[in-house]
Amino acid sequence: MVDPLVFNIQNYSLNDGPGIRTIVFLKGCPMRCRWCCNPESQEYNIEMSYTRKNCIGEEECGFCKRSCHQKAITFDEEGKAKIEKSLCTDCLSCTKVCPAMAMKQQGKPMEISEIIDQVLRQELFYHHGEGGLTVSGGEPLSHGDWLIRLLKEAKKHRLHTAIETCGYASYEVLKEVINYLDVIFFDIKSMNDEKHKRYTGKSNQIILDNFKQLVQDAKTTKITARTPVIPGFNDTVEELEEIQRFVAKGKNVSYEMLPYHRFGKGKYEMLGRTYPMGDVLLSEEIKTYIQKQNEKWRKKECQS
Ligand code: SF4
Ligand code: SF4
Repeated sequence: MVDPLVFNIQNYSLNDGPGIRTIVFLKGCPMRCRWCCNPESQEYNIEMSYTRKNCIGEEECGFCKRSCHQKAITFDEEGKAKIEKSLCTDCLSCTKVCPAMAMKQQGKPMEISEIIDQVLRQELFYHHGEGGLTVSGGEPLSHGDWLIRLLKEAKKHRLHTAIETCGYASYEVLKEVINYLDVIFFDIKSMNDEKHKRYTGKSNQIILDNFKQLVQDAKTTKITARTPVIPGFNDTVEELEEIQRFVAKGKNVSYEMLPYHRFGKGKYEMLGRTYPMGDVLLSEEIKTYIQKQNEKWRKKECQS
């Protein structure tokens, strides 16, 4: 497997591990969760995205159209660029001439040393509350050897390390990776295999087996299981209770539910794709249930 592409490095994150963290987002994921809020992370290759509101228009600019040999770009009635996705080859020519960053490249290769340098620039903030590096995606475990090299390098600099994973990976990789990890966020999305396949494109069997084995093997890595709660997929008390019973079998495992949100919707438009979730929302009852359960799990964690 070739080295992964990085599509974002986000500083000052408070939600993806303890303390203040820098998140390195990698491209490429084996799953296709319908609710994914980072669709630009799914493909392993470089892609082009277009943000219509940034376009300054044909009259003032129009550079993209002239750069496109595929004739994929026209302009709409308001003079904004419009891309015919079936003609676009993701050649990126338009991204190089667009002065407004309306046409943008998603994903770029980066050396491990370059990433670590960037993460270390925020080092001052990490000392307050165990902050550090979180690798996210996409699926970090899709890039096993590379990820191990990155984490080893991070550890040489005494960085606190975390990853966010969907758990769909070879256990050999996972077992090696935890040697260099302080925290792992591990998604358990559904106990129902048929539904899991329908909504994510993959079976949950490998994920559940990996989780059970991880709980046995992780000696110093803190495990937090997470469930994105998604309307029509797993948003019933029965399904969420079943997941929690499974997670609770592991000693010292933390747990949290992440309520569905629609922050990624605009990104589908940027990539010329249709948002797969439509207009569905979580009910108020299930939101209250999530809040209460998360509170319960937090208390349990404080007591242990
Ligand atoms: S990325 Fe697509 S739209 Fe842009 S220049 Fe290349 S073919 Fe044309
Ligand atoms: S180059 Fe960018 S700003 Fe200019 S017309 Fe094309 S999309 Fe709009």
